[in-house]
Amino acid sequence: MREAGPTDAVDGAQPRAVVSPSSTTETAEVLRAAYEGGFRTVVRGGGSKLGLGNPPAGVDLVLSTERLGRVLEHAAGDLVVRVEAGVRLADLQAALAPAGQLLGLDPPEARATVGGVVAANASGPRRLRYGTVRDLLIGITVVLADGTVAHSGGKVVKNVAGYDLGKLFAGSLGTLGVIVEAIFRLHPAPAATAVATAEVAAPGQAGSAVRALLASALVPSAIELDWPGPDGPGTLTVLFEGIGPGVDAQAANTARLLADAGTPGARVLLDGEPGQGGEAGLGGGADRGGEATRAAAALGALPWEAGQLGVKVATGPSGLPGALATVWEVAAAHGLAARATAHAGTGVLRAGLDGGDATTLAAFVNGARERLAPAQAGLVVAEAPLEVKQGVDAWGPVGDALPLMRKVKQRFDPSGLLSPGRFVGGI
Ligand SMILES: Cc1cc2nc3c(=O)[nH]c(=O)nc-3n(C[C@H](O)[C@H](O)[C@H](O)COP(=O)(O)OP(=O)(O)OC[C@H]3O[C@@H](n4cnc5c(N)ncnc54)[C@H](O)[C@@H]3O)c2cc1C
Repeated sequence: MREAGPTDAVDGAQPRAVVSPSSTTETAEVLRAAYEGGFRTVVRGGGSKLGLGNPPAGVDLVLSTERLGRVLEHAAGDLVVRVEAGVRLADLQAALAPAGQLLGLDPPEARATVGGVVAANASGPRRLRYGTVRDLLIGITVVLADGTVAHSGGKVVKNVAGYDLGKLFAGSLGTLGVIVEAIFRLHPAPAATAVATAEVAAPGQAGSAVRALLASALVPSAIELDWPGPDGPGTLTVLFEGIGPGVDAQAANTARLLADAGTPGARVLLDGEPGQGGEAGLGGGADRGGEATRAAAALGALPWEAGQLGVKVATGPSGLPGALATVWEVAAAHGLAARATAHAGTGVLRAGLDGGDATTLAAFVNGARERLAPAQAGLVVAEAPLEVKQGVDAWGPVGDALPLMRKVKQRFDPSGLLSPGRFVGGI
């Protein structure tokens, strides 16, 4: 335990102390003491995204997972790994690489920890292929607000009788308990990488190309769209990972399919022979590849800088062109510059906004939300200066499940001590 300093503040809320337990037992002791003392506690993993959600109602204690840093068990034969929550994702990927395996999660933050990724349900471009935390997490150990330790799931893929606590904790943002251990299923690392990339003139053209790709028998790992300015053009990048001959043929077929969908001139990037160009993107593997590997590694970068407004719009692939147009129109109406990228295959749009004061940026969030609502596209604030977050709800409306969510919170954290006020509906 140490006294907290200014860099430990969470969205303007200054804690009094930082504590770094090194085991589940110690974590339980800390939380029990915090419960008895009524100390409001925020969990910190890599600290890369502590500004997510609404500013906390107050923080007394930061519980850091920096000493929960062990890979406990890698059952390579079963494609399963058990890790402590403070292990950095990049370090985990590096530990799995010698066995030719990976965890199929690729959020952009290099400092992200396993616990933070689970708590934020973070994902990246390869979500199209591997799914999200909820698809890969098969077991979890958590410590609840009063110090109770609870396990759910285990090391075999079909293992959950009863409610699946892992799915509940994925995306719970530290409001229900502290994740101390996680068990994931793994995938074989690809031996080769190939990329097809093309310029697209209009959002509608990108939409047609993505529809054609999703309806085809091709199996891309990611379909990403970069849209740097209102008038385009954008760049569509389609990533294939697997064995050399397979991915090469798929990339070549994609170029033909893009031409048929009205997007001619696709470039195909290959990484040479199988086994010589692999280890792209996921994990800490050495960059032994060529152009395709570099293009793959560049995918998924956030379209905003720290301190700017960054929003995320979940729309589905077919809603993407409309959502893109809406973001540009509302940004222009408020005199803001925007840049957008999208996981186009899963329909997740991200936009960075720049150029206005806090009131203008908050007006953009509310205006875009209003325009997107009829299409049932939700907008969340993923990054924003504190003054902007003081003027808007980071999450937006969550519908009629909110009373049930409040009851879940009440059951897990009856005194409201864990990350108070940061989650949906002020939870
Ligand atoms: C709505 C939303 C959308 C996001 N979208 C994306 C996305 O599309 N792509 C992407 O790459 N990233 C996304 N993120 C970012 C994601 O938060 C980071 O990749 C990841 O959280 C960083 O991990 P970290 O260790 O730095 O966590 P931190 O920044 O330290 O913590 C993140 C959150 O998790 C909590 N937390 C951390 N560790 C634990 C633990 N052991 N137990 C319980 N709670 C814990 C913290 O209190 C905090 O609320 C999104 C996050 C949110 C909430």
